[in-house]
Amino acid sequence: AVRVRFAPSPTGLLHLGGLRTALYNYIFAKKHQGSFILRLEDTDQTRLVPGAAENIEDMLEWAGIPPDESPRRGGPAGPYQQSQRLELYAQATETLLKIGAAYPCFCSSQRLELLKKEALRNHQTPRYDNRCRNLSQKQVAQKLATDPKPAIRFRLEEEASAFQDLVYGWTRHEVANVEGDPVILKSDGFPTYHLACVVDDHHMGISHVLRGSEWLISTSKHLLLYQALGWQPPHFAHLPLLLNRDGSKLSKRQGDIFLEHFAAAGFLPDALLDIITNCGSGFAENQMGRTLPELITQFDLTRITCHSALLDLQKLPEFNRLHLRRLVSNETQRYHLVGKLQTLVEEAFGAQLQDRNVLDPVYVERIILLRQGHICRLQDLISPVYSYLWTRPAVSRTQLSTISKKVDEILKHVLGLLERSDSLTQDMLNGELKKLSEGLEGTKHSTVMKLLRVALSGQLQGPPVAEMMVSLGPKEVWERIQKVLS
Ligand code: GLU
Repeated sequence: AVRVRFAPSPTGLLHLGGLRTALYNYIFAKKHQGSFILRLEDTDQTRLVPGAAENIEDMLEWAGIPPDESPRRGGPAGPYQQSQRLELYAQATETLLKIGAAYPCFCSSQRLELLKKEALRNHQTPRYDNRCRNLSQKQVAQKLATDPKPAIRFRLEEEASAFQDLVYGWTRHEVANVEGDPVILKSDGFPTYHLACVVDDHHMGISHVLRGSEWLISTSKHLLLYQALGWQPPHFAHLPLLLNRDGSKLSKRQGDIFLEHFAAAGFLPDALLDIITNCGSGFAENQMGRTLPELITQFDLTRITCHSALLDLQKLPEFNRLHLRRLVSNETQRYHLVGKLQTLVEEAFGAQLQDRNVLDPVYVERIILLRQGHICRLQDLISPVYSYLWTRPAVSRTQLSTISKKVDEILKHVLGLLERSDSLTQDMLNGELKKLSEGLEGTKHSTVMKLLRVALSGQLQGPPVAEMMVSLGPKEVWERIQKVLS
């Protein structure tokens, strides 16, 4: 059975790069009726960020790609936090020590620091000199007496054989004597990434490891650990990097790549999933507007290429517009959107809300239906341009007379129109307003429209006047005009 995992370190909030790794794992799992597991790699206790673990799981849920097994959900292969699995790493280390594939290292941090400094001074890559590799049993016993908790290193003596990465093809990285033997268990009993990752992928029954390509060079090392432990390794598929459109690194420092930011700004999870898969590979063709179920059926791991994915976030509003439209067309979803917009309006205008019940769901729904396709996010509807929908503008007759001297004539005509017809349609209004302008000698149609627009909204820009009138409804239009005339 397919079992995949997303294994972030809870050292920060979930960002787009992480979402992408999680998403590919999720769609691969669902395509093969497999399981998607969230494992928190929290063994570097110094780098933990409070709230990050919760944020990662919250955001996966928000994005609509919840894990099947996770710290919060539990599952048969738990616990799902590495800090709670120390026993398993100790066991594996014990095995490796027993067969001589690992050894205790008594080098002090000062010595290691010195080695590093020296290498850097000579413009070399720092590497451990494997000093403790060949200590005799007697030497080890002596040292253990004064230093009972040494770090444990993995003996990297031979090279791993090449492996077939499902994205990068046949791959092999030289590891023996390149970096020096890596620490697998620290003196505090916590494992390092390499050991923990191998032990967990094994015990959690992971079938495929889909992770960022920055881990490709570590894979040979992992394979040597599998070999030493006598375990069957999973398949590996390394995902190319996600970069900005100009090829620069997606920076967490910009702050706007965290999922929280997109959620708060009113972007839809579907739009994010769509733009992220659209800029990468894994599909026969790139097309906008795919939903998660479509991503799952259309995904093909063999189509992932090694080219970096270039993300153009400026296109995100367009993606969002598309997905918002799709939601509006679904009655249940539209109902949710109405609720969301009600909340947004209440938050934004609160006390200023006009006496009329602008929170009436029928009204709110009408606004959404009329404006869909023109707005990218629901939030756009609470921007200043649309404030007239929720609050009455303060417009004076004097202000309007700077647009046309025929304020009264125009407004009264519209009142008459409203009295004659009990429901408003845009077509009817357009026809009637055209007739009105034609009957006004020396006044252009555009002037009439401008005057009405300002009278109703206090703004010079916005949706077409007829649409404005339809959205406000005859009663409200009537009242706003009366207010100007009074
Ligand atoms: N903890 C690693 C990370 O944060 C996971 C690497 C892997 O998936 O093996 O990227």
